[in-house]
Amino acid sequence: MILLGAPGVGKGTQAEKIANQYQIPHISTGDIFRSNMKAHTKLGEQAKAYMDAGTLVPDDLVVALVADRIAQEDCQTGYILDGFPRTIPQAEALEETLHKRGLALDYVFHIVVPDEEIIARMSGRRACENCGGTYHIKYRKSKQEGICDICAGKLITRQDDTEETVRKRLSVYHTQTQPLIQFYEEKGLLVSIDGVAEMDDVFKQIREQIEKD
Ligand code: AMP
Repeated sequence: MILLGAPGVGKGTQAEKIANQYQIPHISTGDIFRSNMKAHTKLGEQAKAYMDAGTLVPDDLVVALVADRIAQEDCQTGYILDGFPRTIPQAEALEETLHKRGLALDYVFHIVVPDEEIIARMSGRRACENCGGTYHIKYRKSKQEGICDICAGKLITRQDDTEETVRKRLSVYHTQTQPLIQFYEEKGLLVSIDGVAEMDDVFKQIREQIEKD
């Protein structure tokens, strides 16, 4: 399965729920890059400049990383891809990798949320500069403003959540990732999901589709 949608539509949250419900791995390319950055690996160093600027990491880096990951043992009964593919060449590379192994995609869920709602959601995000705990000034407030509930660290706006970077990421999404909607629609795989609804309702729409089949 693939989860498609602009940054900030809640793909990570939904992917987590799907992974728990169906006992399959949740593969987030963004998370893989962030953990590599934290561990100062070569991959992390390569990805950092792109991520901080809100642009995409080059296709060849991402494609190799995903091909490796989905070949692992725990992916043999399925998996959910979150944040990949993000370009037509990535989607074509995925198709080729799957095809070689006699596999195919089952679902591409497209989570739909208007841009202005995304900007409001993302620019309210805060992260603890010490432990990385995440908050939101409206939806997930810390007990004390600006202070982490877990470790009392200072809450900051991550570079990739500033309004300027969010607008940049949205424009990257519209030019580079949006063509995938038509790509998968033509293959009869696309299922549109209303992402403005409550988190549990969004998940319900996804589950209903899977269980209907
Ligand atoms: P995410 O957490 O999925 O929003 O990803 C954060 C950042 O990681 C993106 O803004 C990109 O810089 C990079 N990234 C994640 N997945 C991909 C991908 N499939 N292709 C290129 N860049 C990616």
